[in-house]
Amino acid sequence: MCTCISKHLEVENDRLYLDGVDLLQIAEDYKTPVFIFSESKIRENARLISDVFKQEYGDCYIHYALKANSILSILRILKSEQLRCEVSSGGELYKALKAGFKPEDIVFNGPGKTLEELKYAVELGIDCINVDSLYELDLLANLAEKLKTRVGVSIRITPEVSAPSIKTGLSKTKFGVEINQVVKMIRHALEKRNLNIKGIHTHIGSQVTDIASWSKASMVVVRLADQIYEDLGLELDHINMGGGLPEDYTETIIERDTDVSSYLWGSIGISEIAKTVSKSFKELKYNTKLYIEPGRKIVADTCLLLTKVVNFKERSFGEKWLIVDAGFNILPSMRILRWYYPVINISRINEKHDSPFRIGGPLCDGEDVYHDVEGEELGNPRLPKYRRLPMNSQPGDVLAILHTGAYGPEITMNFNGMLRPAYLMILQNRVVKVIRRRETLNDLVSYEEV
Ligand code: PLP
Repeated sequence: MCTCISKHLEVENDRLYLDGVDLLQIAEDYKTPVFIFSESKIRENARLISDVFKQEYGDCYIHYALKANSILSILRILKSEQLRCEVSSGGELYKALKAGFKPEDIVFNGPGKTLEELKYAVELGIDCINVDSLYELDLLANLAEKLKTRVGVSIRITPEVSAPSIKTGLSKTKFGVEINQVVKMIRHALEKRNLNIKGIHTHIGSQVTDIASWSKASMVVVRLADQIYEDLGLELDHINMGGGLPEDYTETIIERDTDVSSYLWGSIGISEIAKTVSKSFKELKYNTKLYIEPGRKIVADTCLLLTKVVNFKERSFGEKWLIVDAGFNILPSMRILRWYYPVINISRINEKHDSPFRIGGPLCDGEDVYHDVEGEELGNPRLPKYRRLPMNSQPGDVLAILHTGAYGPEITMNFNGMLRPAYLMILQNRVVKVIRRRETLNDLVSYEEV
């Protein structure tokens, strides 16, 4: 019997397959924990986002945000899908170039770019540097003058829109320039012949699940662009709406966890967002390009993490615990942001997932669990107390943690002497490729000198 869960995941003869490759076999061949990406899904997501946005607003350019996942093999795929990219450090800029992105396809964000990083970007002649303050604007003007060149600049603004999840669009955060300062700042910039003022930029947050935030933010930037045009006669080359397209983290083959915070449901679709943003853009007094910088939505559901149950205990008060070999050393967002990832037992894929388990990672740290310890104590947990898994789940079983492609593989660490796992990709021809090897014990000490 074959149950198709999605175009990419299917169950056949009690085994789960990703793009036709048996995941239990992968766990055996490559050991756990291990990240597995789907090349087809990455391409599918990139095309879908491009198509949907370009259909609503023809002059739209998709800049993939490297911070979501900067593995070179993934960047190469996105480059081949004609995406551009967004970087937030000299390191990401280096990786973008390595992956084949051209300087003119790159925009550079960040609240604390160093002089060295700015110089790197200016010398390359990238499309645009999104400046975060008047100080940085002047720094850049001096640098460009010294280097006898002209640099493309956009100004990151705070539209005072508070997204429901991760908030970055308010002036009480560290990001951007207040709206009422922007015209003055551009007037100042126009006096500097080494600066080419190309646009304004905003990023209201990540996982922005309410359409009102998108509507408000896009109207704010459009009104500001109109004001710049009226006061200074300047037509912007582009307006950049940043990232934030939401992912549905509750979508899985088992019943959805209903006690997951609403912002993890990814309740609005990209076409609704594209329609809303382009409606605001069409009200602008002239035509300009729309830039967007999605990260999460392009890679989140292209990857799953396989982890093995290594220990089991049952408390006298009835709670059952499974300890697995992947903890917050591999998915730090579980701890830092209380981020939710669905878990399924692929060794018992056809058994009913209805028994409550506590799940813990391998670290000697009480917060290395798949629930919200602090939130439970305060009476407002942001994660489900238990995960529902087959009753007989036990050591040796392999669990799959879904939707882990964004901000997971990117921020792993060696805490507790843990080795970073292998990253695999299932290519379109079903070949399994190691795109980042598993670390060795020697890697653990290779940067140290004694
Ligand atoms: N652009 C900027 C400036 C960001 O800071 C981020 C992430 O925080 C992104 C784009 C990507 O956001 P997301 O992954 O939510 O699409």
